[in-house]
Amino acid sequence: MREGLRNQLDQFFNLLEEAVETGDPAWLDSVIEIWATSLTQTDLEGGTSNLTRLMGELMVHTHEVCRETLDEAQGQTLMGALLPCFSHAFEKAAQAENQVKMAFLSNELADVRQSLEKLDRSKSDFISVAAHELRTPLTLIEGYAAMLEESLEQEAAKGTEAQLIRGIHHGTRRLHSIIDDMIDVSLIDNNMLTLNHQPVWVNRLLAVLSEEVRSTLSDRNLSLNLADFEGSNEMIFGDPERLLQLLRNVLTNAIKFTPDGGQIWIDGRKLPGFLEITIHDSGIGIDQEDQSTIFDKFSRLGDPSLHSSGKTKFKGGGPGLGLHIAKGIVEAHNGAIWVDSPGYDEKKFPGSTFHILLPIQQEPPDEKMARIFSSLHTTSSSERKTQPYETF
Ligand code: ADP
Repeated sequence: MREGLRNQLDQFFNLLEEAVETGDPAWLDSVIEIWATSLTQTDLEGGTSNLTRLMGELMVHTHEVCRETLDEAQGQTLMGALLPCFSHAFEKAAQAENQVKMAFLSNELADVRQSLEKLDRSKSDFISVAAHELRTPLTLIEGYAAMLEESLEQEAAKGTEAQLIRGIHHGTRRLHSIIDDMIDVSLIDNNMLTLNHQPVWVNRLLAVLSEEVRSTLSDRNLSLNLADFEGSNEMIFGDPERLLQLLRNVLTNAIKFTPDGGQIWIDGRKLPGFLEITIHDSGIGIDQEDQSTIFDKFSRLGDPSLHSSGKTKFKGGGPGLGLHIAKGIVEAHNGAIWVDSPGYDEKKFPGSTFHILLPIQQEPPDEKMARIFSSLHTTSSSERKTQPYETF
């Protein structure tokens, strides 16, 4: 090692001599670049500037040797000639070292990203396996509960037993929906969400949805104002079941986070190439800093232990998957979802507005669909609005 170092130092001083003689400090570049690329892992991890420190030491030693071996005038002349070379060497060393460190850090970052992705994948795999494993026994419980209900006498079914069976049904339904959500999350995270494109009318989806939540709204004394906005009655291609799920997730949250007696508005507008649906509530609102993270999976704000249970109760708890799924569905349709809220306040209830942007896709997405809906193609766009397709 000593021998190697001596050779390299020899080379440095030979090049320094060359640089002084020619007046071109770039002679030093090659050796500095070699030193920069041979920095060890420890040097790079340490974050200190080893190469510039080495330059400093070389300069100090050179100065000492000058002082010891030359008279003052000669020493000053030599140092005067050496200084521009050292100044260039410092700059070059810092630059080369930074480049090597940047490359090292971006490699490190790529490694970290890779292991995070791996971790995320194994989390998704775990969710998917666990969800499938849970679904099988759950289906059995549901089946047996239904059989038990049938086998009970009509009379007995009105009493305690009926209540117990209703309890089982309710529990299994909740469990089923959580498991389905877990499966959807793993499909979304693995880019495996497939859409079953069909003609869709947004106003029909919203009508189905408002009918679904009617009794919940009246239990909670909430009013839902559904506007008949431009574009909502036009046919677009999309997956009706998934779009309904997306709207349901956002509307259920509006219900959950609005106090009894509050209001919810569903409105929208037609934009060039897009349909924007807005779901606005007079609820507790969302802090600015949480407005992007709520779309991450398992993101629930506040202290979960303070949440009441129940899917539609005020501040009812949930697994924190609904918005992640909503985002996955809207993005699979090449759309976008975001939220607007002045902030979180449980006294003033500033409310939140969720915006859902859906592309107005008027053509079937693939050839198979195009063949199926070819008759639709031949009709005019005004007729399209009234096509009696039995979908949403
Ligand atoms: P979950 O409802 O299961 O907790 P979501 O993914 O649907 O999960 O929502 C994540 C979090 O975003 C909720 O726990 C809540 O804190 C916040 N949030 C969502 N919608 C609203 C809303 N309309 N008003 C206030 N907070 C909301």
